[in-house]
This record gives sequence, C-alpha cells and structure tokens, in this order.
Amino acid sequence: QAIVVCRQVSKRYRKGEIPVDALKRVDLTLNPGQLIAASGPSGSGKSTLLNLIGLLDQPSTGTIELFGQRSEVLKRKERQALRRKYLGFIFQNFNLLPVLNAVENVELSLYGHPLSKDQIRNQALAMLQQVGLLNRAYHYPKELSGGQQQRVGIARALVHKPKLVMADEPTANLDTGSATEIISLMRNLSHEIGTTFLVSTHDPRLIKNMDREVTLTDGVLLS
Ligand code: ADP
Ligand code: ADP
Repeated sequence: QAIVVCRQVSKRYRKGEIPVDALKRVDLTLNPGQLIAASGPSGSGKSTLLNLIGLLDQPSTGTIELFGQRSEVLKRKERQALRRKYLGFIFQNFNLLPVLNAVENVELSLYGHPLSKDQIRNQALAMLQQVGLLNRAYHYPKELSGGQQQRVGIARALVHKPKLVMADEPTANLDTGSATEIISLMRNLSHEIGTTFLVSTHDPRLIKNMDREVTLTDGVLLS
C-alpha cells in the first residue's frame, strides 16, 4: 500500500523572463517504512520535490496522491491538517525556535492534537529520551551543539508518529561524528515507528545507509 504516488509531476517556476522547469514529469511511488535518498547536484530539484510531497507547494501539472488523497483537491485547512497529522520535517539548519527550549521545540508538533498539557510534555520528554537528549530538555538551542540541535529537530519531526518525514540535507551542517549519529538515529526510528523518510542529500555517508536511492538530474528523476 503506497503512501505517496507522484504521477507525471512537473513544476515550473515563473520568475523573471525565463521560466525554470525544476521538475519534469516525475513518477515516484513511496512505500511505508522505507528510507529513501533523493540525490542529485545542487539545483537539480530535490527541495522542490520535497516541498511538493510535503504539501508546501503545488505541482504545475501532474498529480500527487498522499495517503490515498489527491493533493490538488485539498483545501488549505485540509492540507494543514494532513501535514500536522501525517508529516514531519527535518531541516538542514535545524530550524529550532531560539526562544523555546528543547522540550518546548518538540512540543510544537503536538499542538492541535487532542492531548492535555501533561500528555504533551510527557510525550515530548519521552521522544527526547529516544534521541538521547533527556538531560538537555531545558536547554535552549544556542546552548546545544549542531548534532544535538539536529537531534532535537528529529525529535520534533517524529514525536507525533508521522507516516512520512521529509528531511532536507539533514547532515549538511554536521561534522562526520554527528552525521553518523543522526543517520543511525533515523534508521532506528524509521524501523521502530514505521516511518518513511524521504531525505534529500548529496552526502555519500547518508546515501549508503538508505534502503533506496532516487536521483534527480536537471529536474528529471531516475529510480
Ligand atoms: P535542489 O534542492 O536540488 O538544490 P531546488 O529544488 O532548490 O534544487 O531548485 C531546482 C531549480 O528550481 C533551480 O534551478 C532553482 O534555481 C529553481 N527554483 C527553486 N525554487 C525557486 C523559486 N521559488 N522561484 C524560482 N526558481 C526556483
Ligand atoms: P560541537 O563543536 O561538537 O558542535 P560545542 O563545542 O558547541 O560542540 O559544544 C560542546 C558541548 O558543550 C556540547 O555538549 C554542548 O551542548 C555544550 N555547550 C556548548 N555551548 C553551550 C552553552 N552556551 N551553554 C551550555 N552548554 C553548551
């Protein structure tokens, strides 16, 4: 049972004189519980693909089906609800809110879910424990190393047990030690929780640890 089906998806950006075809007739099916690397050089369309599947933007032509729902028929509120319930996001620059501590950053993913304050706090702390950062729960992002901040980012992306996590170059700003930690953490959590990861990267350390690689070249996808 596929969780994502992209059919002939194209994306054209129209800015300035010359339009840019960032994706060209991409066909892609994602299955549950897989770790998938989307590789390719800078500018090849990786972020665009993640944005479209993550419901942050819409294709110019073609269709994307997410958990059995055609994305283009969804209303704004419905996309938001789908994103909140089923999707998680991990970023290259971690994207933690500097005015919130680690546990409060993780709790952000649980707002809008039918849970009490105590349940939210307890689930966020349990998730921080899973990424090995319980002892840093009340530290602010600026008090954490890059690898630790990314572990908070992973906890925030997974605390609501999403079916699909988009990770945009998650190891690009990390040294090899931290990158290795982050990679094995994603592997373990994907197997424990059954989450599919779609990871854009050109990091060979990351690619060799994935279950599957798809490659973009100038907007064209090769499986
Ligand atoms: P990657 O993530 O592989 O580096 P992107 O998806 O960011 O690639 O970009 C693919 C192409 O689309 C590039 O040529 C980029 O300049 C262009 N592009 C991306 N976002 C926009 C945008 N918002 N407006 C115009 N062009 C864009
Ligand atoms: P790295 O260079 O590996 O990213 P840092 O040198 O930034 O790590 O940090 C080393 C350790 O010191 C980490 O465990 C980090 O959490 C801690 N640390 C760094 N800055 C602060 C700070 N301002 N307050 C408290 N702990 C800090």
